[in-house]
Amino acid sequence: SPSLMDPSVSPQNSILPSRGWDDISVYNAKKKQHAWFQAPDGNWELARIISVTGDESLISFAEGKVCKVPSDVLLPANPEILDGVADLMQLSYLSEPSVLYNLQYRYDRDMIYSKAGPVLVAINPFKNIPLYGRDYIDGYKRKKIGHPHVYAIADTAIREMIRDEVNQAIVISGESGAGKTETAKIAMQYLATVRGGSGIEYEILKTNPILEGFGNAKTSRNDNSSRFGKLIDIHFSENGKISGASIQTFLLEKSRVVQCGEGERSYHSFYQLCAGAPPSLREKINLKNAHEYKYLQQSNCYTIPGVNDAEQFRIAMDALDVVHVSKENQENVCEMLAAVLWLGNVTFSLVDDENHVEPVVDEALQTVAKLLGCRIEQLQLALSSREMKVRGENFIKKLTLAQAIDARDALAKSIYSSLFDWLVEQINKSLSTGKHMTGRSISILDIYGFESFDVNSIEQFCINYANERLQQHFNRHLFKLQQEEYIQDGINWAKVDFEDNQACLNLFEQKPLGLLSLLDEETTFPKATDLSLANKLKQHLSSNPCFRGERGKAFTVHHYAGEVKYDTTGFLEKNRDLLRIDSIQLLSSCTSELPQIFASNMLSLQSESPSIGSVKKAGGVDSQKLSVMSKFKGQLFQLIQCLGNTRSHFIRCIKPNNLHSPGIYDQQLVLQQLKCCGVLEVVRISRSGFPTRMTHQKFARRYGFLLLDNVASQDPLSVSVAILNQFGILPEMFQVGYTKLFFRTGQIGKLEDTRNRTL
Ligand code: ADP
Ligand code: MG
Repeated sequence: SPSLMDPSVSPQNSILPSRGWDDISVYNAKKKQHAWFQAPDGNWELARIISVTGDESLISFAEGKVCKVPSDVLLPANPEILDGVADLMQLSYLSEPSVLYNLQYRYDRDMIYSKAGPVLVAINPFKNIPLYGRDYIDGYKRKKIGHPHVYAIADTAIREMIRDEVNQAIVISGESGAGKTETAKIAMQYLATVRGGSGIEYEILKTNPILEGFGNAKTSRNDNSSRFGKLIDIHFSENGKISGASIQTFLLEKSRVVQCGEGERSYHSFYQLCAGAPPSLREKINLKNAHEYKYLQQSNCYTIPGVNDAEQFRIAMDALDVVHVSKENQENVCEMLAAVLWLGNVTFSLVDDENHVEPVVDEALQTVAKLLGCRIEQLQLALSSREMKVRGENFIKKLTLAQAIDARDALAKSIYSSLFDWLVEQINKSLSTGKHMTGRSISILDIYGFESFDVNSIEQFCINYANERLQQHFNRHLFKLQQEEYIQDGINWAKVDFEDNQACLNLFEQKPLGLLSLLDEETTFPKATDLSLANKLKQHLSSNPCFRGERGKAFTVHHYAGEVKYDTTGFLEKNRDLLRIDSIQLLSSCTSELPQIFASNMLSLQSESPSIGSVKKAGGVDSQKLSVMSKFKGQLFQLIQCLGNTRSHFIRCIKPNNLHSPGIYDQQLVLQQLKCCGVLEVVRISRSGFPTRMTHQKFARRYGFLLLDNVASQDPLSVSVAILNQFGILPEMFQVGYTKLFFRTGQIGKLEDTRNRTL
């Protein structure tokens, strides 16, 4: 049975002084306390203060070194009794090194979960730690275990959903490889175990191998990186049992289908198919080894250590069985995968002296035509020409080699992303049992965190915009929670400051002069270039404090998590996401079932969604060119609206090192993530309010004996007020609630000092 005791000490009775940084070294020296000293490499080291003279402090380090430093570079360290507290809010000093040290202290002892007030911080252990499974689930369900855990969050969500009849959301964020997807699965496992029963929970869990097979890939940052965002709503029936679910996905990375970096892989599904397809299927879809497909060859990486792709293929197919995808459809899915792989092998030859090309009729082209169910000539035409309309007249434009390769890759990408969407649709059909009429649900959001690379393109632009929105939800939600607590105790809420990232969101969303509008506007101009886009942004937005124009095609946005410089190269092309009408026409004329479905889904998607300009095309099809950004914005607004109607619980996943290794804690890396995901901000917000709280009773008991004059009434509130008066605590530094006293940081110090001297 698991150990139920948290070895960390809960400092119930240790209200320790916390004051401004200026006088802290003097205070610490008096107490022979520790302080943090920042070494030249940026890492913080714990030092003991030996003495303080003037503005200088003499400090010693663990290894015996002694040195003199300016007192103001030292930050106060927490007393040892607070080492490894489960909630960062329990720390007396919430400085960066204190927070980092506390998390590391716990991480070193395999306590990967901590709280930062209402937020759960999860540090990826990169190894299996025995914190999961039946016994633990049971422990949390019966409230026998009190340590921070994903299970505890999931349990709270269930309880509050039932008690308050409010839908819940578990919002998981963090950078790639931080553990979001694993955390989401752990939460799902808990819900399925304690609230299952109908069997549908088994189906819900089986969606993971499908979505991961088709939507995850090996990247430089994570061997099993999700290349899409995911929201899963788990529905509950009247009796509080799981009754169904629905899944929504965001922004699948399409470019990976045709191109990926050295040492990375394309989607797992391709390698799984090549390794695991049984002989009869191989023959039917003319399947070769992964090494023989150009799309898979380019990154020179075919396997993942410790992963058996053939085995994963069987697991994925079994999972498709579970969500009621027929054997026939499973075979169709494999056909589409093979069609994409073979498309990559299609080559072109020159047909005239104007650089126009035609696809070579070889095994690749023939196989693609067979798998899609179209005539070879049709496929040839689609890959070598484009229908154009000039001055009211239709004509056919021949493609150059570069354009033809583009058309081929665009077709491959749209087949794959349509296949992914179709699978999600099948899963949703299977999971929607129609019994969730109670409308109660718990949603789990697993979405990419804030990203800032050396070169940032439209993908980072979308992701960071989404995170900006999610951050606002986070701020407002936590602010509201705090507000409720204050209001409950009758505290004047107006005195608590609260920062918002609305200014940055305005930069994105303002119409007509915001980043998104300007991007979409420029996307519709046929003559626009990435440079003209950059210039337009600079022209209209330079006065915005969150924006800065850069040389050439770049601009910088000041996000809540820091500045990010975006390079507009490829922005327009990617935003147009040329879903050429030619591809749609080709797919709709195919005799195979899936291509036809894909074509009609693409068409309906285009007409339903907000569009950026529409071009009447030959054949009377209204090909509204849907921008990637406007589609994503629509999804995002829906998501935020949905989250706004829930009680949200936040899990911030942290990646402790870039080596994916257990036991290594890279301070700078962790610090940067704590900043990005708003953990330090939560801590800061609560410090800006009245973070130290004590009930009237406790306050009166603890300091009442220090009173010099007798108090007329002995009730705790009167005693408390008398103490506050005697010690000259300024009115703006505290508030008296119905049950508790609320203090700003640093106010209890003087009282505590006097108390210690007196005792
Ligand atoms: P993300 O979704 O944030 O990109 P993942 O959830 O895929 O990251 O996690 C990356 C890897 O880290 C996993 O494949 C697994 O090896 C490891 N990992 C993450 N969370 C845990 C955990 N709680 N216990 C053990 N290993 C974990
Ligand atoms: Mg993931």
